This record gives sequence, C-alpha cells and structure tokens, in this order.
Amino acid sequence: MKWTKTLIQTLRENPGDAEIDSHKLLIRAGLARKVAGGLYAYLPLGMRSLKKIQQIVREEMDRAGAQEIVSPILQPAELWRTTGRWDTMGPNMFKLRDRGEHEFALGPTAEEVFTDLAKGMISSYRQLPVTIYQIQWKFRDETRPRFGLMRSKEFLMKDAYSFDVDAEGADKSYWTMYRAYERIFARCGLKAVPVQADGGDMGDSLTHEFHVLADAGEDGIAFCEGCGYAANLEKAERKVGNGEWGMGNGEAVEEIPTPNAKTIEEVAAFMGLSPDAFVKSLVYLADGKPVMVCVPGDRDVNDVKLKHFLGAKAVALADFGTVLAATGANAGFVGPVRPADASLRIVADVSLKGASGRIVGANKDDFHLKNVDLARDAKIADADYADLTTVKAGDACPHCGRPMVIKRGIEVGQVFKLGTKYSAAFNATYKNDKLEEHIMIMGCYGVGVSRTLQAVIEQSHDKDGIVWPASVAPYQVCICLLDPADAGVAKVAEDLEAALEAQGVDVIVDDRAERPGVKFKDADLIGFPVRVVVGAKGLANGGVEVKRRSEDKSATRIVAPADAAQAVADLLKEDAGA
Ligand code: ATP
Ligand code: MG
Repeated sequence: MKWTKTLIQTLRENPGDAEIDSHKLLIRAGLARKVAGGLYAYLPLGMRSLKKIQQIVREEMDRAGAQEIVSPILQPAELWRTTGRWDTMGPNMFKLRDRGEHEFALGPTAEEVFTDLAKGMISSYRQLPVTIYQIQWKFRDETRPRFGLMRSKEFLMKDAYSFDVDAEGADKSYWTMYRAYERIFARCGLKAVPVQADGGDMGDSLTHEFHVLADAGEDGIAFCEGCGYAANLEKAERKVGNGEWGMGNGEAVEEIPTPNAKTIEEVAAFMGLSPDAFVKSLVYLADGKPVMVCVPGDRDVNDVKLKHFLGAKAVALADFGTVLAATGANAGFVGPVRPADASLRIVADVSLKGASGRIVGANKDDFHLKNVDLARDAKIADADYADLTTVKAGDACPHCGRPMVIKRGIEVGQVFKLGTKYSAAFNATYKNDKLEEHIMIMGCYGVGVSRTLQAVIEQSHDKDGIVWPASVAPYQVCICLLDPADAGVAKVAEDLEAALEAQGVDVIVDDRAERPGVKFKDADLIGFPVRVVVGAKGLANGGVEVKRRSEDKSATRIVAPADAAQAVADLLKEDAGA
C-alpha cells in the first residue's frame, strides 16, 4: 500500500481532552477521530488494527467451540422487562421508541436477547452444551465517557453466552472461555492478568476480570506476590490481624469537646492521636432506609461490599437532614453510641469486633466520645459485623497473610458464571433423557474489543509514539522511501513491498514527497513494528536500513536489497516467538 493513496493524517498537537498517553496517541497517530463526546470514528489505520483484534477474538472463540451469530443492536423493551433490567439498568441504557410508540433499547449487552434465542431454539439436552457469541457494537450512556475508546458511549464488544445442563458443565464452559481469553490477550501482545471480581447482584458467583496493568487504569487491584491472590478492590478481602481490637482498659466513656474538627484527620490532629484510634461512622441510605456504618478511622467503606451485605439494590451516603434526624448531629460528629433514633441499624466492619478504647462522634455537634468499647457502649448485633472496608496496600493476604500490593488495571474482558438468573426469568428450559424439564445453566463472557485496541497502546508506547506488537499493528512494516522521484530507488522499494506482501506481510510504503525527518517521526508515532529505509544514499553505500520500532538507531542493520525481505520476515518471526 502506498501512503499517498491512503487517508492517513497524523497530528502534532495532543487533543485537548486527552488525559492519558494512549488517548493522545490514538488521535495523534490518526487511528481514530472524535465525532462527539464518547463517540469515535475509526480511521483506516485504526480500523486495520481493530479488525486484526476482532480476527484473533473470532479465531479463539471458534477454537473454543463457540458459534458466531449476530443479533440486533436495537432490542425490544419486552425482553428487558422479562428480567426487570428495563428499570434496574437505569440511565446507563439508551432508550427510544419507534413510530408506533414501541419501546426499544440500544443494547448495552445482550443476555436477554441470547437467552430468549436459546429458549426458542433449544429444547433437548442433546443440543447442549452450546456457546454462542457475537462481535457487535454496544451502547452505554456512561456517566463520564473519557479516555478515548477506553470508556466510550459506543464500543465494540465480543459477547458470548454458554448454556449447559448442569453446574459441572457450566464450570467446564467457564474455564474453556477463561483459557480462550488468556490466548486472546497474549496473541494481541498484551499482558492481561485474571483477577477475582465482584459478582454483582449474583453475590458470590464466580467471575474473573482480565486486567491490563497500567497507571491509567480505572480499577484498583490487590495482589499478593506470595501466593498469587489477585482481586478487584471491589471484592478483595484481607486477613484481619490480632491486636486490631482492644485498645482500652475498661475506662468510662468521656465526652470531649472537638469544636470545628469534623474529619477524622482534624480530630486526630486536635487530640494528637493516630486515625486508627477512631471509629469512622457514616450514615447511608440503603434503598432509602438509613443505616449507620462504622469502620476503623483509617479505612474506607466499600460500597459494593456494603450493598451486598445489606442485600440492597443501591446504597449512597445520606443527606444532611437524614443524618441529623437519625443521629442528632451533623456528619462528622455521629457515632454508634446512643444515636437519636434508637432503632437505627448499625453495622460495623469485622475488624471492629471487640474494639475498645476508641474515639467516636458523640451524636452532638462539636463533641466526640473517648474510651468507647463497642460491645459495651453500642448496640451492634453480632450478625451486623461484616467485611465492609476496602483493602489497602500492606494489608494481609486473606490466603497466606503476606502483605498485599495495590495496582491499577484496565478491564479488557470478563468471564462470568451466571447460573440461572436469566434462564429462570425466561423459563429457558431443556428436557433431559427422562423428558423432565430443567432450567439451563448459563455463563456470559465479554471482551472489550475497542478498549483492547487502546489498552495495547497504553501498555506499549514510548515518548515518540506507539510500539505495536506485530499481531495487531495496522501495518507490520513501513518502507520509508526517501527519494520517491528517483525511479531506481522507487523500484527497490516496490520490489521489497511485493516480496513482503507475497509472504503475507502487511506493508506500507511512505512515498510522500516529505523530508526524511517527517517520515521517521510519523513512522515512530504510528509505531510500525519494522521500518525499512530505502534511499539513494543508502543504496550507494550498500543497502537498505532495517530496524525494529522497539530498538534504537544503533541496532539498524544494513542489508542488501535482495536480502531485505528475508531480514524483515526473520525479525517478525522472532517477535512472534516462532
Ligand atoms: P467497566 O467496569 O469498565 O464499566 P463493565 O464491567 O461494566 O466495564 P462488562 O459489562 O463486563 O463491562 O463488558 C464487557 C467488556 O466491555 C468490559 O470488560 C470492557 O472491556 C468493555 N467495556 C465496558 N464498558 C465499556 C465502555 N464504556 N467503553 C469501552 N469498552 C467498554
Ligand atoms: Mg465487567
């Protein structure tokens, strides 16, 4: 392919709304262009990479035995009403009506559509197990679309759904997909690590997210480098240590004035104590009902854990009025000892069980209580102690006790054991060999195809631009033709292009009438894995220059034109691990 025949435009300036490197490079390298907030057009270069990622996903799904279909983006409301998600998906779902006033959603995912299809097509155990998938555009009205393709309103997802006769079969389907995901990301040149994740409404249901570790990641992940435990912070647990509990010696509760000191840090500084001597108390609304949540002063409430523990659909910090009515004080001075509303439910982090000698809000503005012994002074039921906090760096691994580290990750895929949540709602059944009817057991499996494209860039770039892995690069080789007007030189480039293409290598020839510096800069910015410089001067001195994008100038090989195709193919083969 000749550069002058393509629509490639690189930019010198970073886009104003780009906060992370991969977003800047995506736009500057001419892979995609913003159409509106959270909406992008994929340009020829970006489209080539996107298609290669799709192809890898498709090959691995097919290899795992999954069947490709495609279902409509426009999904009827009735399907979503069957599971109740028409309402519970909330404002994240784009909803619209046709001219007959029938309601539809732009699919944010497709469990309902696929379950309904399976129900309609599958009746016997003989048809099971089966996994079906599609690669289709998804729509989500994200609260904060950002980071380019990472969190957009419209994105390409591969979604697969497995149907099995029993839990054992569902387990097998799950791990088959898990292994397919390992292969997909490895083939895309990505290091993606599987981590345990929150099962959402399905509580302790088994699910793993695949994360690309990067500072720009939106998720926090706890890792134990000792035993390999890895979990999203939404779910990660810790071993609660001895000595976290008792700090007091049975002294009586004492009220202390703490004027204008509201935050734990302020009160701690005021009293010359460390935050872990405090119990942080927050009033939440769980599905509209107030509940007080107590955690150690140096820890944060984990809203996801709280929601599951309370069995609530939604939890959020309560408004000022609710806090005052429930406790008798304003936020900052509330605590578990005698709140104004004696019937207020109080739940506490498990690490506070047996805590004494603590400082808590007095439920009276500008006052705190010291020497508080939770068992003695607060009304917290035994069953209301639970793991309610987010783990921190250094916390003990729940399995082996060694200190954990926290890293940031980009979620590129997720595998999920659904059980019968959707199949039961649709009454999607099969008949066994005795003609008895049973509900199918499901799993669902998503890969963010467009997010993966950008995750590759985030994981593989330097100060000059992208460093594509050959498997998903828009072109694997760029021939920088330095003297396009010189017919002899142009012929060398053309022959090399033809020789490489004959071997199935994607090549672009930069035949623009531009200075060498401009061509080198663009080749580095776009990040073609191998660059070949063909120019009159070089040829006069014995050959063409071959270099990997990932190598510096000193690694340049001078190769006779006739050997260049082989030299390039060897480099690509080496990189592919062949
Ligand atoms: P997130 O937690 O990042 O919002 P999710 O867990 O809601 O994602 P899933 O429902 O698991 O997303 O969707 C499957 C995959 O689709 C995700 O693993 C992710 O790679 C991708 N994805 C989800 N939302 C977006 C988005 N707004 N833009 C781009 N890709 C997305
Ligand atoms: Mg997910």
